[in-house]
Amino acid sequence: MKVLKFGGTSVGTIESLSHVKRIVEGLSEQAIVVVSALGGITDKLIYTGQLACKGDQQFVEESQLIVKRHHDVINGIVPANRQQEVLDIVNPLLDELLTIYKGVSLIRELSQRTLDVIVSYGERMSSVIVSRIIDSACHFDSREIIKTEKWFNKNIAATELTNELIHATFDNMESKVAVIGGFISTDKDSGEITNLGRGGSDYTAAIIAAALDSNVLEIWTDVDGFMTADPRIIKDAYVLSHLTFIESMELCNFGAKVIYPPTIYPVFHKNIPIRIRNTFNSETEGTWITDEHRNHGVLLKGVTSIADTSLIRVKIEDTLDINNISSRVYNALSKNGVSVILSSQKHTENEVAFAVRNNEEKRAIELLNEEFITEINSMTLHSITANAEMSTVAIVGESITTIVGIEGRLLNTLGINGVNVEAYASGASKTYLAFIVASDKMKDALHIIHDTFLSKKNA
Ligand code: ADP
Ligand code: ASP
Ligand code: MG
Repeated sequence: MKVLKFGGTSVGTIESLSHVKRIVEGLSEQAIVVVSALGGITDKLIYTGQLACKGDQQFVEESQLIVKRHHDVINGIVPANRQQEVLDIVNPLLDELLTIYKGVSLIRELSQRTLDVIVSYGERMSSVIVSRIIDSACHFDSREIIKTEKWFNKNIAATELTNELIHATFDNMESKVAVIGGFISTDKDSGEITNLGRGGSDYTAAIIAAALDSNVLEIWTDVDGFMTADPRIIKDAYVLSHLTFIESMELCNFGAKVIYPPTIYPVFHKNIPIRIRNTFNSETEGTWITDEHRNHGVLLKGVTSIADTSLIRVKIEDTLDINNISSRVYNALSKNGVSVILSSQKHTENEVAFAVRNNEEKRAIELLNEEFITEINSMTLHSITANAEMSTVAIVGESITTIVGIEGRLLNTLGINGVNVEAYASGASKTYLAFIVASDKMKDALHIIHDTFLSKKNA
């Protein structure tokens, strides 16, 4: 049994869907196929909701485009004898969606809960369509199988219950292919529609692959594999034939969009290989992600970035113990669910510096103001400042931190090319070095690092 995930880039058009059909029908073993919404639809579902909420009547036209896009795909690729069956399912969903938009525009309110319902229509419709394109496929509703629970203000997978439901659904599956929508889920207690976060279809596929001990998790997308850098920024980025789980985890944590970060953990835990493949070029080998260490002398694997980074600095009086302050900072953040991208190793006696995503900056500062209320009042804590105009750039490779002098060479190379490093850190996994630079220098930093350390000439 294997699990294949086709992203929005692979289910966006009639042409791409015909590749999906050919790939899945050509399989010799039983498969579970996880699909995203038609390419670009999730963004459009959100945008239309935002227009409706503002009372902008353009939402009517936008929602009609969503209807048309689904109808065009159904007309273009679903076999004629199954079209009515698909329309009988999809049209009521589209009607519901339009009614919700109308409600949002009347009330002028778009809560997170409503937005979660709105985005769910993308995968609910695409999965029905794909299941009727592929011969001998059946359809399953992910809302009945993938369960989440609350963790601070996030929804995270409720693993135990989800695993039970996956077994109950698929253990005695008779059909050769099962199609299921990725990304969407329901709360294990309330039954409300939730999701696993943007890009979350990869994660749905990994959860299913891990629960069923699939022999491989295939992520089908629109590039030939995992590359040394984002090919949209670095033109001479090239495909890596192999990565370890840890390397891929760090690359994804630091922004490589090709896999949604939480995806790696469930399959890593079960030692199930991930293979990244190109729907539009299915002959190529793609990238294998396994637990094997196949360095062949190449230690550095890729460079990635997170554009929306905020660098927060806590400045204290010399009389306070910096180690104590530092542990209180990280404790206050972690026990309240704020993820730190990087804690700076550029130590000074009176400053703790760390980076978070821009959307967590406000919460992080609130938490620190609460934690250090006494020190703020006694003026031993001088300031808590944040700069949201920052980006994180990371270079990844197994054992990178053990390469003698690498940190100095990187800092030096960036410096002589005019990129000032505000903070940096290396990971406990020894697999990355990460730097905080001004956002307007992010692309320069990516180019400099790729040219100097990852260019094919050096590989
Ligand atoms: P999907 O719809 O298949 O989930 P995504 O857009 O989420 O596709 O991810 C694939 C895209 O990720 C590619 O088109 C590529 O532009 C981008 N990308 C960013 N970084 C990398 C990288 N290091 N390797 C390969 N692709 C990358
Ligand atoms: N459709 C969702 C998104 O665009 C999930 C996914 O594509 O993985 O974020
Ligand atoms: Mg994706």
